[in-house]
Amino acid sequence: MANKIPRVPVREQNPERRAANFEEVCYGYDLQEATMEASRCLRCRNPRCVAACPVGIRIPDFIAALHAGDLQRAADIIAEDSSLPSVCGRVCPQESQCEGACILGIKGEPVAIGKLERFVGDWKIEHGAKTSATPRNGHKVAVIGSGPAGLACASDLAKMGYGVKIFEALHQVGGVLVYGIPEFRLPKERIVAREIEAVKQLGVEIETDVIVGRTVTVDSLLGEEGFDAVFIGSGAGLPRFMGIPGENLNGVVSANEFLTRTNLMHAYDERYDTPIYVGQRVVVVGGGNVAMDAVRTAKRLGAEATIVYRRSEKELPARAEEVHHAREEGIAFRMLTNPVEVLGDERGWVRGIRCVEMELGEPDASGRRSPVVKAGSEFEIACDVVIMALGTSPNPLLAATTAGLETDRRGCLTADEAGATTREGVFAGGDAVTGAATVILAMGAGRTAAQAIDRYIHEKKSSLKNN
Ligand code: FAD
Ligand code: SF4
Repeated sequence: MANKIPRVPVREQNPERRAANFEEVCYGYDLQEATMEASRCLRCRNPRCVAACPVGIRIPDFIAALHAGDLQRAADIIAEDSSLPSVCGRVCPQESQCEGACILGIKGEPVAIGKLERFVGDWKIEHGAKTSATPRNGHKVAVIGSGPAGLACASDLAKMGYGVKIFEALHQVGGVLVYGIPEFRLPKERIVAREIEAVKQLGVEIETDVIVGRTVTVDSLLGEEGFDAVFIGSGAGLPRFMGIPGENLNGVVSANEFLTRTNLMHAYDERYDTPIYVGQRVVVVGGGNVAMDAVRTAKRLGAEATIVYRRSEKELPARAEEVHHAREEGIAFRMLTNPVEVLGDERGWVRGIRCVEMELGEPDASGRRSPVVKAGSEFEIACDVVIMALGTSPNPLLAATTAGLETDRRGCLTADEAGATTREGVFAGGDAVTGAATVILAMGAGRTAAQAIDRYIHEKKSSLKNN
């Protein structure tokens, strides 16, 4: 299926200019561009895009409303399934979900669903969210963590009439959306804070600076605090390291710490006196979205920035758009390269990394070809800072402080498809269950668990009535 109208290109900040600032890279569509792009959608009777959306947004319907100029209706249709359209329109891997499945992509370019979702989400923010609270049904649910999983679960439960309270360990709400993903991809005040405000308008209460497992426990929430059920959306914030010599030198940091200092502690903003060391040359080890965010951030903070990745370009797990943007901004890529030692100077600071060249061997369990070391290929890269972006695992605190809560060997919470954990009345979803994944998968898990919590509370109520 082809479409005569080409996909409407999106305007972006000039690469040279943006590599030195933290303003948003992508400007998004204006009304005329969005309407033109919306006209490309065929409104398929069995839309493949919807089946490929983890939260099942009625994509052709919102696009049709947008095309007809009824933006409030477009926003309402999206709101049935997603409370974070401006966030998802910016960071979702649409190329492997809705857009990857769009019928127009078979012979040409798919509809720019993500950019259209972003346009509608931003319109809703600008025109004042029309969101209202549902009357309460007398039951209350505690949600641990205010990332996409927690926010999606809380929104759906609040819409069903539950009293919902989110407990968040940090002083700011949003999880990775505020402490991980950089401002130049996802503006915090203009977008994230305002979509969270709309969640609050549904009646969701949020308490920050509460570490569940320390300040309160899951047991006390279900006991003396009187919650009927608990949802755990605590994410996977514990960084992994390589276990190579020299990793404890000054100048080796995890991407999580580097990005948290930049985003949450405003290291990018001259008005803040945030301690952060960048030096002149930064090497980021890894090839995922987190690695791209770290390397582009280092570049913006003034360093010469390089990605070191042990497989080839084809295997890079980061979104294609992020890799493209990184290249445009002058990031260097050293592919098929693996660090074996971090080198230090006499003061205990990083002076470089020793690496080996890799070549691709047989496919591993994930289907990707495993990198193997090329004999006699050792070489050094001089640098002042090494940022490890090798993935993260869930923090073990909640499992350690909650009786009956089981985890797998990676430390992820054990939960069934509906999100029920091994402890009655406790549900979980998002990165805490899957390990590091995506915003939309976390939201999908939060929504699924909200349905399961609703069923659980109803069943409990009727069994109490019958006894
Ligand atoms: P999180 O977003 O991690 O939220 C968990 C929250 O729980 C946190 O706020 C944490 O403080 C809180 N918490 C933890 N323990 C406790 C406790 N004991 N008590 C109270 N609160 C607690 N995904 C994409 O789809 N696209 C991208 O472009 C993308 N880029 C990324 C870039 C970076 C730098 C990172 C780190 C991740 C990125 N991801 C991306 C992944 C995505 O952000 C995560 O998969 C998603 O945020 C997971 O949502 P979550 O709600 O499960 O957890
Ligand atoms: Fe429109 Fe593509 Fe979805 Fe069909 S698959 S409804 S063309 S967005």
